[in-house]
Amino acid sequence: SYRKGGYHAVRVGDSFAGGRYIAQRKLGWGQFSTVWLAYDTRSSRYVALKIQKSAPQFAQAALHEIEILSAIADGDASNSKYVIRLVDHFKHAGPNGQHLCMVLEFLGDSLLRLIKYNRYKGLELNKVREICKCILTGLDYLHRELGIIHTDLKPENILLCSTINPSKDPVKSGMTPILERPEGNQNGGAAINLVEKKLKQRARRAVARISERRASMGGVGTTPKPDRSLDGIDVRCKVVDFGNACWSDKQFAEEIQTRQYRAPEVILRSGYSFSADMWSFACTAVELATGEMLFTPKEGQGYSDDEDHLALMMELLGKMPRKIATGGARSKDYFDRYGDLKRIRRLKYWPLDRLLVDKYKFSETDAKKFAEFLCPLFDFEPEKRPTAQQCLQHPWLNMENLTKNEVKSEPTIDKVSVGMRNLQIKVGK
Ligand code: ATP
Ligand code: MG
Ligand code: MG
Repeated sequence: SYRKGGYHAVRVGDSFAGGRYIAQRKLGWGQFSTVWLAYDTRSSRYVALKIQKSAPQFAQAALHEIEILSAIADGDASNSKYVIRLVDHFKHAGPNGQHLCMVLEFLGDSLLRLIKYNRYKGLELNKVREICKCILTGLDYLHRELGIIHTDLKPENILLCSTINPSKDPVKSGMTPILERPEGNQNGGAAINLVEKKLKQRARRAVARISERRASMGGVGTTPKPDRSLDGIDVRCKVVDFGNACWSDKQFAEEIQTRQYRAPEVILRSGYSFSADMWSFACTAVELATGEMLFTPKEGQGYSDDEDHLALMMELLGKMPRKIATGGARSKDYFDRYGDLKRIRRLKYWPLDRLLVDKYKFSETDAKKFAEFLCPLFDFEPEKRPTAQQCLQHPWLNMENLTKNEVKSEPTIDKVSVGMRNLQIKVGK
């Protein structure tokens, strides 16, 4: 991909925008870009430099992202809305072409990495609550004030706030910026490695604390308590990645969202709005608390991943109202005229609060309260889902801590009545 039209190759110490930004180390990459930690010599701060591939379709996409990010920055002068801040943008000419570059505030690891570091065990509910507040504040701003739908909300697109920048002075913050390309040493010698090491250490401070805590809790053979890993850290995070975002009145794509976070109306092609983000938000909240994706649809014998996805939704949430099931442009592919799935006939109902207790060992109270917060968001009727603003008022977000894992319950046989069906289902493994 480092060819004409593709990525721009960057080396540590490379300078951008007439010397203003100096590349420090690579932070990550995606389909469209590479992202570098850069030192902003004008503000003496670290920033994230997103360097887009140069081919016209990537340049077009970058222009769109810049338009959205500019609107976000313009409406939030105090940078207090938990949405990524665009600092600057410019063009950079390189051997592979002209690259649009976005300068973004430097943030930390994604929530997906946080879940991984936590060994897919789920975060303590108090942390989930704090994270939910940030995301909802961000969504409320995007939806109500700007009319923007994110369309790709998921843990990977929510980044923890970095602990590096608060001190404007890089020396005080414990980081020494690299100001020029290291002489005759492209891979970095001992001295550079040392600086890089330091940068890495600081950038992953939250993560380092996790491992330290683990180490202090015992060596091989002991299972560290995953909930404790973020103890004492004020978790704040921001919504990022506006490459797919759109204006509610100017939509581009019929199919939006990453599979597991996709709302039913998107699958059925019934049209979508802000409420599609609320569905993804709810999926994300469950994943943070359990460590596992809520819906992982797979195609099977005689049915598609879409149909499996609809089945999984109904197993968790009950039968989809006929009007909704049959109302989309794609409804006929999946549902008969009674609103029953064509190819998946037997559903195993397992409501969210039971799932949390049976599979994830939540206490009855925790499960009930968390499900009360989430279930309205999982309404099959998009218009009935609460808005981000309404969610922010929910008592669950302002509750005192209740510890997960307090009361363990044995798997049970559950009897659930949904619509015309009355099934007796065995739950648990
Ligand atoms: P995608 O294929 O996901 O659309 P993309 O090319 O648009 O990728 P991003 O997802 O924006 O690129 O960024 C790629 C990676 O760079 C991210 O996953 C993240 O690890 C890192 N990154 C992006 N922005 C920042 C930031 N502001 N601070 C720190 N790291 C960042
Ligand atoms: Mg991304
Ligand atoms: Mg993107």
